[in-house]
Amino acid sequence: MARPALIVHGGAGPVPESESTQRQAAVERAREVGWSTLTDGALAAAMAAVRHMEDEPLLNAGIGACLNAEGGVELDAGVMDGAGLKVGGAACLRDVRHPIDLARAVMEDGRHVLLAAAGASKFAREHGLEMCDPSIFITDRKRQELLLGADTVGAVARDADGHLAIAVSTGGMTGKLPGRIGDSPIAGAGFYADDRFGAVCGTGLGEAFIWLGLARLMVVELQHGMEPASVARGAVDHLGKALKASGGVIVIGREGSPQAAFNTPAMPWAAAE
Ligand code: ASP
Repeated sequence: MARPALIVHGGAGPVPESESTQRQAAVERAREVGWSTLTDGALAAAMAAVRHMEDEPLLNAGIGACLNAEGGVELDAGVMDGAGLKVGGAACLRDVRHPIDLARAVMEDGRHVLLAAAGASKFAREHGLEMCDPSIFITDRKRQELLLGADTVGAVARDADGHLAIAVSTGGMTGKLPGRIGDSPIAGAGFYADDRFGAVCGTGLGEAFIWLGLARLMVVELQHGMEPASVARGAVDHLGKALKASGGVIVIGREGSPQAAFNTPAMPWAAAE
């Protein structure tokens, strides 16, 4: 019997002062949604929290996501089930209502680990996922154009059976080139989960997470016995020192409390155990 735990974050981008309370409240709502689902397992809880945040307009995922250089929204998402190292990613999505659902469908299908753009949309339609007009992701064009840098939403969960899971969803970086894919749909970069050691999720400059293979590195550190709090702190220090990059991470080990660390001015997060 393991002690259930959940941690949810709403992105490590610079938060406009006027929005910080509301973003924290949005993240806390997601924690409640995830926590109430944890009896269905870690994967269900992480999925539910992230799916909820895709509908929170102040968070950079799903509705309200940041705009790319051409004023469009392209969404990435990823999910990993630490029980069997099962993983799914979906990237560069314009018309899939819940990117995290598609990431999960890719994982369940199991033939591939990452689908992008038109092929990903086709797969979503074939699997009966909800599709939408790309315009529904844009709620306030002026605000979304000005979203500074980035943000992502993510959740990591541990259930009573000791299973770990992570889900993550993002609009990526404001002003990104069309077609750019960040770390969030890429296992080992933006996220990783292995029941034997722990699960992690990152937010921040996606290129930096990919260059460093940061999520996988963090789980290797857990494997070698480092405490989750040190792994989290070390990861953001490494981001800053190695690449002068900013970001944040959330971590849950096989035991102990959820941990968060960031080197940005803020990262709304909420945990329960
Ligand atoms: N990591 C995301 C990306 O680069 C953005 C973020 O987390 O803020 O796409």
